[in-house]
Amino acid sequence: MDLSFVNQNFNDYVSWRHHLHSHPELSFQETNTSAFIATKLDEFGMPYKKLGLGIVAYFRSDSSSSSQGLALRADIDALPIHELNDFKHKSVNEGVMHACGHDGHTAMLLAAAHYVVNHKEEFADKQLYFIFQPAEEMGGGASQMIKEGLFSDFPISQVYGLHNWPGIAIGDFAIRPGPIMAAVDFFDLSITGKGGHAAMPDLADDPIAALGNIITQVLSLPNRSIDPSDALVISFTSIEGGDSYNVIPSNLKIKGTMRYFNQDVYEIAKKKINDLVSANCALHNLEYDFSTYTTTAATINHPRETETSIQVAKQIVKDQLITDMHPSMGGEDFAYMLEAKPGSYIWMGNGSSASLHSPHYDFNDESITYGLGYWLALMKNHNVL
Ligand SMILES: [Zn+2]
Ligand SMILES: [Zn+2]
Repeated sequence: MDLSFVNQNFNDYVSWRHHLHSHPELSFQETNTSAFIATKLDEFGMPYKKLGLGIVAYFRSDSSSSSQGLALRADIDALPIHELNDFKHKSVNEGVMHACGHDGHTAMLLAAAHYVVNHKEEFADKQLYFIFQPAEEMGGGASQMIKEGLFSDFPISQVYGLHNWPGIAIGDFAIRPGPIMAAVDFFDLSITGKGGHAAMPDLADDPIAALGNIITQVLSLPNRSIDPSDALVISFTSIEGGDSYNVIPSNLKIKGTMRYFNQDVYEIAKKKINDLVSANCALHNLEYDFSTYTTTAATINHPRETETSIQVAKQIVKDQLITDMHPSMGGEDFAYMLEAKPGSYIWMGNGSSASLHSPHYDFNDESITYGLGYWLALMKNHNVL
């Protein structure tokens, strides 16, 4: 890495990051973010193609026709959170915030593209693709880019992702082969009965009494119905129903989520929840409607590309390269790119910052050098390691 070039341009990288942080946009609404990326690529002189609100920039040297296409991906969207930070670059879009560091991911990938354009000779035999992906948070952005031609229009052989990670020191990295982020499923449950007077529950059909049992039984399901070596999280996240002291409501609406790595675990959990709801509703003479939908598949790192990431990260890590961490039960839309192409997804230390999705979170600018360093080393070593 030409360190003097990086140092010379470092303030620009930080200003791009701060601009993006101030102007966050929600999933599938990243119009200005996408325009900002396109403007920067125009300034660099790097060609690109728009796929919806996503962008694929590319660099193909003259002698790269026989080389394999390497793609690096950054997510560009923000979250519906009211920012509680008070620094100069805080969000100007009320109720929207870069609380997951995608501003940093975007700035680092732009910095990597900028570096390549200015050091063409260092990438003489490479075919490189820079994927700026919308709608990671809500899910759907990766699949949409794939549908619109990401892997059919561009000869991409491998795809790599990176996410900042609070709790890991700046300059450190963590990666593991196999599962690294969980599959995400959302469920809705509606329970309906005839309700009645709170003082005469014997004359009513009480959905709250049924739900009490359902919740305790469903929450104990992972450690009684699933192989203990498999991971499964079930959380209830919303209960709506009733609005007085003396009426048993006739309907409750419940939301929740399941997280897992193994599809069989999900199928078992879905059936068991349905069985428990059905049995409890029958007991209380209630009707119910239970539905689930998967928003994100599990993110599974491919072994060979994970090993490449490990060798590359070793070259630039400050202190520690962690390879024995537990996977996260959070979800990541990059899963769909790893389903389509071999690749890996690495965590990069964000130091002792607030957690991801916290209204106090901020991407740590100090880590830009390490994230950029990782991307550059990966591109240089592609097809070499
Ligand atoms: Zn997030
Ligand atoms: Zn994120």
